[in-house]
Amino acid sequence: MQSSARLGEIRDKHIGRGSIETHSVMFQSSRRDFLKQTTLAATAVLVSSHSTIAASKPGAAPPPSVPWYRRTLCWGQTNITEMDPESYDIEWWRRYWKRTQTQGVIINAGGIVAYYPSQVPLHHPAERLNGRDLFGELCRVAHADGLMVFARMDSNRAHEDLYRAHPDWFARKSNGQPYKADDLFITCINSPYYQEHIPAILREIIERYHPEGFTDNSWSGLGRNSPCFCENCQKRFRERTGSVIPGERDWNNPLYREWIRWNYERRLEIWDLNNRVTRMAGGPDCIWAGMNSGSIASQAQSFRDYRQICRRAELIMLDHQARAEGDGFQQNGETGKLIHGLLGWDKLIPESMALYQMGKPLFRFASKPEPEARLWMLDGIAGGLQPWWHQVAAYHEDRRRYRIPEPIYQWHKANENYLHNRRPLATVGVVWSQQNLDFYGRDDAGVLVELPWRGMTQALVRARIPYLPVHADDLERDGDGFSTLLLPNLAAMSDSQVAAVRRFVQRGGGLLATGQSSRYNDSGDLQADFALADLFGAHISQTRPDDDEARRRRWATDTVHTYLRLSPELRARVDGPHIKSEPPPSGERHPVLQGFDETDILAYGGMLDPLRLDAGTETLLTFIPASPTFPPEKVWMREPKTDIPGLILNTRPNQGRVAFLPADLDRRFGRDNLPDHGNLLANLVRWTAAGDLPLMVEGHGLIDCHLYSQPGRMILHLMNLTNPGAWRQPVDELIPVGPLRVRIKLQPDVRGKNLRLLVADQKHTGAVKDGWSHFQINSVLDHEVVVLT
Ligand SMILES: [Zn+2]
Repeated sequence: MQSSARLGEIRDKHIGRGSIETHSVMFQSSRRDFLKQTTLAATAVLVSSHSTIAASKPGAAPPPSVPWYRRTLCWGQTNITEMDPESYDIEWWRRYWKRTQTQGVIINAGGIVAYYPSQVPLHHPAERLNGRDLFGELCRVAHADGLMVFARMDSNRAHEDLYRAHPDWFARKSNGQPYKADDLFITCINSPYYQEHIPAILREIIERYHPEGFTDNSWSGLGRNSPCFCENCQKRFRERTGSVIPGERDWNNPLYREWIRWNYERRLEIWDLNNRVTRMAGGPDCIWAGMNSGSIASQAQSFRDYRQICRRAELIMLDHQARAEGDGFQQNGETGKLIHGLLGWDKLIPESMALYQMGKPLFRFASKPEPEARLWMLDGIAGGLQPWWHQVAAYHEDRRRYRIPEPIYQWHKANENYLHNRRPLATVGVVWSQQNLDFYGRDDAGVLVELPWRGMTQALVRARIPYLPVHADDLERDGDGFSTLLLPNLAAMSDSQVAAVRRFVQRGGGLLATGQSSRYNDSGDLQADFALADLFGAHISQTRPDDDEARRRRWATDTVHTYLRLSPELRARVDGPHIKSEPPPSGERHPVLQGFDETDILAYGGMLDPLRLDAGTETLLTFIPASPTFPPEKVWMREPKTDIPGLILNTRPNQGRVAFLPADLDRRFGRDNLPDHGNLLANLVRWTAAGDLPLMVEGHGLIDCHLYSQPGRMILHLMNLTNPGAWRQPVDELIPVGPLRVRIKLQPDVRGKNLRLLVADQKHTGAVKDGWSHFQINSVLDHEVVVLT
């Protein structure tokens, strides 16, 4: 540990050199300048008027009646370590807040350690606090600078002195031993620690410092894999069920599922309790907003019911700092859309965005490459998230991180009126539920639930089809906005969810369902037939003796040498050798098989069961069972044809188009990335939507598109994710794409002639025809945002 004098010396030297002050200029790299010039030159052909747009054009301040949590858009956090109090350079950070135009800060207050002199017994002071009131100092200067303050708590664990004084406040394993994380003891969610100790700290901080609100890094206690067997938990569970907490993880045991539900409810009680405490002590706008994840699987592991939390939250503090391994940046935009779908689009979702090398690998002291950090931030903004730069510790020797937020925050400030309070435009709803992840996914949710989701949504991003995640319990409320619903292996469904899907189709909406959709009830019990069998036109034909979950779960994790046969076969129509004795081709292919005219088979990889089909259905794909891949001498199809369906279309008069895809091509695409699977999924979406899609984007590259409307205008985000690092972080170079030819279906109050490019800072003119605006974007480096009026 360096002495504070040494730290100060280094920092002074670093600031004195002026390297930070020039970061925004440094960002304008030669590559970017070159690109801007080429963009300008190329657009001259198309652009009729082309003038510089004042950077500060929008920006009517919201009325004061709008509470702080609805108007604070750009956040920042220096996550304070226990070493920081002796060297925290407040004036330096104040200048940084100003330079980045940060509007709100998250400041460590209490919990594991206190960053102020607390009177709450055994509220452990930070190691180098030495009586300093660091939280108080920071809170005062932030308020003096006009910033909003979230006091940050971490209520997950505590030091040994508290454990010795209150052993009943801590979580215990089945053998009675306390749960520990290094030297700290994990607190129990059902104990007085949450019921009394944390509320006392919240009240003390409010009375002394008046922060606008509170957040908590880790507020929901131990997760599903670490059940607590302490006396508090046993007593509460016994009061509810009459039983002791199940010692075994057994999803087939109703008591275990009850334990899962009981845990979920307790987290909601904590949410409500903390909000009662902070609002009673700090007024109605002094909200408590514990942090939540961007991963539904993580929320499920932590017993945090996203839908129920959003129904009671004024905003979501989203702790989702970087992309997961194997995920693209589009996951961040999707997260914004998913949470807004629960929370409402009028509320805000600040997202913690790491400026250090987060994820895999994790290096807290090293800066994240700027292109990686930019793309993560920008795709989040495209999905309706608000940026929140995040770094750990108040002093850094790798100073490159400081430059990252500044240009994005300045751009955000200049264009903020286009970036929130907007309505997403998408005709495709992708249906999900956390209960499906829990009670169907169980311990295999990664392959059973997440992989089909990822494959389906990736097919949509790849095809530039705007979509919105929609919770299965919100279908009645939100369904009318969609032309088609997609059920990517939405296996566990409640009766009301099934009824909502059925009504949607009866009203003329399309449906694409895959895999085991509607085969389980909402507790995860296998049913004799699909609950939506009438819509699918397909039924379980027989329950095999081995028709158990283990078999299907095994199928989900295997890739076997199976195929799908396209119907009708076209082999005689194309050049190439074929077997003369085969029957001649019959008829034309259905539009959902567009693009596959030169093949009669598609690689598959999964397994399929026979189904019983209703009259009037069309089977476009049939299963070809597994055959050897080695040695080559043995490679031929042992059973080239079956009548086991892989894709069934069911169209009935006065109802929406239904496609049922028992072949789990969404999961296959998520796993294997074969373009045939993505293309077929996109074809099916277009067909079930009866072509009702509001956006067409042509041109090369992986472009994540987000379309919105505001009164009198439409807003299109084009995120350029084309990059060798698209699937493997970090990206270290931005690579431009273009031209992109865009067509947008105009809203009734938008003429569609005038375009503004908020990133290139240009004006364009769109050609309007039959209610669509047509235009071309010549080059996109990382993103472009088009405003149509
Ligand atoms: Zn407990």
